[in-house]
Amino acid sequence: MSTIKNDTLWLPDDELTPELAEFTRGIRAFANEKLAPHARAIDEQSTFRRAMVGELGDAGILGGPLPTAIGGSGWTPLQLALAHEELGAVCSNARGFCAVQTGLVTQTLAKNGDDDQREQWLKPLMRGEAIGCFALTEPNAGSDVASLTTHAVEQPDGSYRVSGLKHWVTNAGIADVMLLFATVDPKLKGKGITAFVIDTARDGLDRKPMEGVELGHRGSDHAVLTFDNMVVQKSEMLGPVGKGFGIALGGLSSGRLSVASGAVGIHRAALSAAVKFTTERQQFGQPLAQFQMVQERLADMLTSLHASRALVHRCANRRLHGTETHADVAMAKLQSTEAAATACDQAVMLHGARGYSSAFPVERLWRDIQALRIYEGTSMIQKGILARMLTT
Ligand SMILES: Cc1cc2nc3c(=O)[nH]c(=O)nc-3n(C[C@H](O)[C@H](O)[C@H](O)COP(=O)(O)OP(=O)(O)OC[C@H]3O[C@@H](n4cnc5c(N)ncnc54)[C@H](O)[C@@H]3O)c2cc1C
Repeated sequence: MSTIKNDTLWLPDDELTPELAEFTRGIRAFANEKLAPHARAIDEQSTFRRAMVGELGDAGILGGPLPTAIGGSGWTPLQLALAHEELGAVCSNARGFCAVQTGLVTQTLAKNGDDDQREQWLKPLMRGEAIGCFALTEPNAGSDVASLTTHAVEQPDGSYRVSGLKHWVTNAGIADVMLLFATVDPKLKGKGITAFVIDTARDGLDRKPMEGVELGHRGSDHAVLTFDNMVVQKSEMLGPVGKGFGIALGGLSSGRLSVASGAVGIHRAALSAAVKFTTERQQFGQPLAQFQMVQERLADMLTSLHASRALVHRCANRRLHGTETHADVAMAKLQSTEAAATACDQAVMLHGARGYSSAFPVERLWRDIQALRIYEGTSMIQKGILARMLTT
């Protein structure tokens, strides 16, 4: 059996400062020790592993990008990108959980919550003692979220009664706290959308698993939420009335860096598996990796990996310096998810029939990457953002 000598070619370590390389190796060791042993089983059994939440909290990963002053780990955006690449390379369920819990829920709450809301939820979320979800998508409002119809009707006492339905919401079946986006007046479209932060233990809220068997992310929780005259207090409003659309888009923009980084991790895992397999497997009297057509695919996978990572790190650095535009994260997400999908496709092909079985890692990578092209804005939506910026 040949050993892999070439991992320096696809790992980010050589390009990092010694401090960042050490940080990255620390997250890699965590992922290999705590997540890797369960990654295949939770996928095959479609089980959400609750213990993972505490492990991520204890490792400081859930509070990663939050300021140390409020109990976070104070990561820079580049540290977040490096960490989420490591998680993505091992388990998309864990990386996806972090993207929602931290990227969408905790960071949005830290930025927009009042003192009481932050006091109640931030520390439990960062420690992994509470689970959060971000309830935005509806059956008739996916890419076009401004047309959501979940209705929050104000009552004479100042509270709201919420009715409507959300679906595909990650963590929604198990969440303790929900960021809920509802409209106070559907005719106002985006200008009526208002955000709420609510404890999920209340009447008028029904949660059910999504219908059907999901293609990937099978160790994650995705649910349908039905609101039937659910009472929400004014004190549970997150930000002002009618400002929820901007709050949602801000959360998604921040979360897209995690998705892009996770895609780089998946891409890297696909390349690593493909190199290992093609250097070991012999056909026609020689390793597959000796055939030029196989070599071409491996070379393309390596080159596109670095192109993706370069865009992700560029976006992270611009975020650090406050110069990021919507184009930066759109390009990073578009490039990294699409290139990773191509790489996973090639990795499955290079494994032959073995690539078709969960006994080898590449079919899970192939299934998991599809969702990263869809959630937090599909690839077409990212292209639309870029085209609008170029032409208007
Ligand atoms: C695993 C997973 C986890 C998710 N987690 C969450 C979550 O935590 N919270 C949440 O609120 N949602 C979540 N979602 C939902 C996700 O955000 C939506 O699925 C996504 O926004 C796309 O919406 P849609 O599925 O309704 O597709 P649609 O909007 O109906 O799009 C269908 C197709 O049409 C294309 N399309 C749509 N509009 C345009 C356009 N203007 N130009 C060109 N093409 C267009 C799309 O690109 C896509 O190919 C999750 C989804 C998945 C798969």
